[in-house]
Amino acid sequence: MLAVGKELLIGRTLNTNAHWMGKRLARMGTMLKQVTTVDDDLGEIASAFRGIARRSPDFLVVVGGLGPTPDDMTLKGVADGLGVSLRRNDVALRLMREHYAMRGMGKVELTPARLKMARLPAGAEPLLNETGSAPGVRLATGGTTVYCLPGVPAEMKGIFRRAVEPEIRARVGKLNRRYVTMKLEGALESDLAPLIAAELRRHPGAYVKSHPKGTREGVSRIELDVAVVGDRKEWADRECRAIVAEMKEGVVGLGGTVRAVRGAGG
Ligand code: AMP
Ligand code: MG
Repeated sequence: MLAVGKELLIGRTLNTNAHWMGKRLARMGTMLKQVTTVDDDLGEIASAFRGIARRSPDFLVVVGGLGPTPDDMTLKGVADGLGVSLRRNDVALRLMREHYAMRGMGKVELTPARLKMARLPAGAEPLLNETGSAPGVRLATGGTTVYCLPGVPAEMKGIFRRAVEPEIRARVGKLNRRYVTMKLEGALESDLAPLIAAELRRHPGAYVKSHPKGTREGVSRIELDVAVVGDRKEWADRECRAIVAEMKEGVVGLGGTVRAVRGAGG
């Protein structure tokens, strides 16, 4: 993800879009590989875009800066990064007109600020935005499919669900994820470390991660996440169960207890 917006850098807005998208992709069995955040600055957007495109990710989602105000310059930054120009897109223009008409705003005047939202990098196609005025944008460069989505979380989510996710699913295929959190007490994280290392050796590709939750009355509390992704559900279930059982044995061996195991598929 390339997140654009000064508000994200100055602590005005938390990047909840990255959190939401990361969770959603993880549930699908894939993941957000990197999140880069840049200022509302043409040069910064263009150079970050080029740097990411050079690494040829399957997908790049650029979020924020599609609106009508002067600080919204993502499409120009992306066009600069691609070395193409911005062109008025008639489909985008129609989508915008329909957006205003559907909200009973009638025929709104196409001011330069509004027209700007319909100027897309050459070769790009607009994506319907059901909740806001600025259409999303889809384009391809090298092996990368690029989406530019509005920063407003509801708009970002709407376009992501409808236009982005199906394409990612088709690429990723049907994967099953088992994800379990174990609540541990009385074991030190430093003593869990070799147990976790052994699990990762025994079950390559599995994810085992401890989250220390402090101590209460001198008893250490840890949440341990276990995740397994595979194309066969039975295999993922079995692997996950095996890791949980092995970790439980190890924790008990350290004199600790497993207070709860909460799990989810996905
Ligand atoms: P923009 O598309 O940059 O004009 O942003 C529109 C609104 O979405 C602003 O209120 C931003 O603060 C908010 N926003 C932009 N990017 C994000 C993000 N990554 N996570 C959450 N909110 C965001
Ligand atoms: Mg912005």
